[in-house]
Amino acid sequence: MPLDASNPLATVSTLPYELPDYSLLRDEHYQPAIEAGMAEQLAQLAELAADPEPATIANVVEAWESSGQLFTRALNAFYTKQPADTNPVLDAADEAIAPQLAAHGDAIYLDRRLYDRLAALAVRVEAGEVRLDPASAYWLERKLLAFERSGVNLPEDDQARLRVMNHRIAELQSAFGREALAGMNGGAVLVTDAAELDGLSQAEIDGALERATETGQDGWLIELENTSAQRPLDVLTNRALRERIHHASVNRGLGGAHDTRGIIVELTRLRAERASLLGFANHAAYVAADGCAGTGKAVWDLLTRLAPAAVANARDEAVDMEVVWRRFEPEAPLAAWDWQFVSEQLRAERYALDASVLRPYLELERVLHEGVFAAANGLYGITFTERPELASYNPEGRVFEVAEADGTPIGLFVADFYTRPGKQGGAWMNNLVDQNHLLGQLPVVSNNSNLVKPPAGQPTLMTWDDVITLFHEFGHALHGLLSDTRYRSQSGTETPRDFVEYPSQVNEMWALDEGILSRYAVHHETGEPMPAEWVATLRGSTLFQQGFKTTEYLAAALLDQVWHSTPLDELPTDPEQVEAFEEAALAKVGLDFDLVPPRYRSAYFRHVFEGGYDAGYYSYIWSEVLDADTAAFMIANGGLRRENGERFRRHLLAKGGSVDAMDSFRDYRGQDPDLRHLLTRRGLKV
Ligand SMILES: [Zn+2]
Repeated sequence: MPLDASNPLATVSTLPYELPDYSLLRDEHYQPAIEAGMAEQLAQLAELAADPEPATIANVVEAWESSGQLFTRALNAFYTKQPADTNPVLDAADEAIAPQLAAHGDAIYLDRRLYDRLAALAVRVEAGEVRLDPASAYWLERKLLAFERSGVNLPEDDQARLRVMNHRIAELQSAFGREALAGMNGGAVLVTDAAELDGLSQAEIDGALERATETGQDGWLIELENTSAQRPLDVLTNRALRERIHHASVNRGLGGAHDTRGIIVELTRLRAERASLLGFANHAAYVAADGCAGTGKAVWDLLTRLAPAAVANARDEAVDMEVVWRRFEPEAPLAAWDWQFVSEQLRAERYALDASVLRPYLELERVLHEGVFAAANGLYGITFTERPELASYNPEGRVFEVAEADGTPIGLFVADFYTRPGKQGGAWMNNLVDQNHLLGQLPVVSNNSNLVKPPAGQPTLMTWDDVITLFHEFGHALHGLLSDTRYRSQSGTETPRDFVEYPSQVNEMWALDEGILSRYAVHHETGEPMPAEWVATLRGSTLFQQGFKTTEYLAAALLDQVWHSTPLDELPTDPEQVEAFEEAALAKVGLDFDLVPPRYRSAYFRHVFEGGYDAGYYSYIWSEVLDADTAAFMIANGGLRRENGERFRRHLLAKGGSVDAMDSFRDYRGQDPDLRHLLTRRGLKV
């Protein structure tokens, strides 16, 4: 059905940089625009495939890259808003769209005529009749591979089976996301005795009271976060409440109203079947083949090489913790719900810093302008100007214009910092408009986080982790903003999953850069800089509890690998088997350490079961190997300098996905990454 012309997504937004005009967009506009966009793209691609002219860059590569503009526009507008600002109408649209998107992908990548048209171009290149520039050559190589990975060469009945599987997988992933979000919200812990809140700040107590009142309950409501670890456990002195929150967190999805186990069983089995149909040993192998890692074995080798060192360090840390714990509870053994609390005590003693003394020095506006933006300015010369007249999808979203040192416009950066009902947990980056020269589009990117909004008129004071997250997400934003590619599909963060975290992780290093830190870490009331000994302590504390952190991460990453590399006949068939499977998986790799639960347990592991990082959660540490190597290289070359920024920008950020990712790394670095830098950074010995 053609799209109603009154739908604001029907035409390119007239706002600067094609920023979607959310002031005109209503919830019911997205779905029809996305659906019409898919139909339009299929028609355009059918024309491309049927073109009787000899295949050229213009009538194949550029024609493809010019197709589906309505689809991209509508999809970007929707998937920026929906995770950050959802409601039942948008959730219903998401549910309806997800399987259609999978079908759309199938309609393209299982279309033999399209594949043949691309292959015809490859033949002409081979014969010397067409010369491809490197980006077009890489485009063609990856596109042909994508077709082959989709099963275009399968017999017809297998293709039909594949379509059914893809459709069901998409439905299940979407259902997992919804159930996990509902389970997280529904798992909030109600406290009725104010005395139990001891340890929380007044602002946190007020916030908990507000949340309870909003939901019509008497008392204080402690909301859950995505991860197993819950921040209030750092500070709550009441052990029984810590235990309640911990159990509410780690038992999410295991039975009850938002049980996700049935979804996990069906989904992992389907993914295994699909991989085998496509000729891969398992889903993990299928995923690794598309990344820098190449093979499931390479992933398994890296993770299992790190695991024993991580657990050994975590066990050493537990010994330290027991000593402190004896002072609180001489009788009871240390439990998982005590770890964060004791860890904070130990941190306070050893590093004489806790979150509450740091917070007044980590005020959001200052961290943003004098930290995150200042570092980008020092490296790339770019500037940021807030444009309050430009609105985003929620009144809390803020829009900044980004420009080169000489004033040349770069794009827009949308920042949406605060947690609110209807926003998913965690922090992430989105593209609203992808940079590309072919269509002359400049980038519009957004960052989301879940800072707790202070009462009106009060400053937003952050934890150290919040600061790192801000730098991290902004690293993704820079990848999008500094992209310099001809094709949209190769723009900015359009790189393999095990590469895409690399630039964002590198950007975290500037949080502790001496020159930058002294600019942003200033007391919000007195204007005094953060004391030098605290800075030294912060620096030293980066090694603190790396055993715990690496273990909880690797446990989640290996769970993901085990779920996706176990042969079909050994995968659970019954939801009741999910927990036992998880336990056995962790035991198998020596990560079954009760005091350190995986960062996500299976039943709320959205990265993996909602999709996006399925068999790919390893990517963070794969990228960190590249990051640690790069950070060491930058420091050896003088740290925060324009020369360092320009080199990184030219060889890496600007290239996006227009070249092989590891080639761009080697171009930048002049050699392969060295694993030792990661081990040194984390204090791990193998
Ligand atoms: Zn990231």
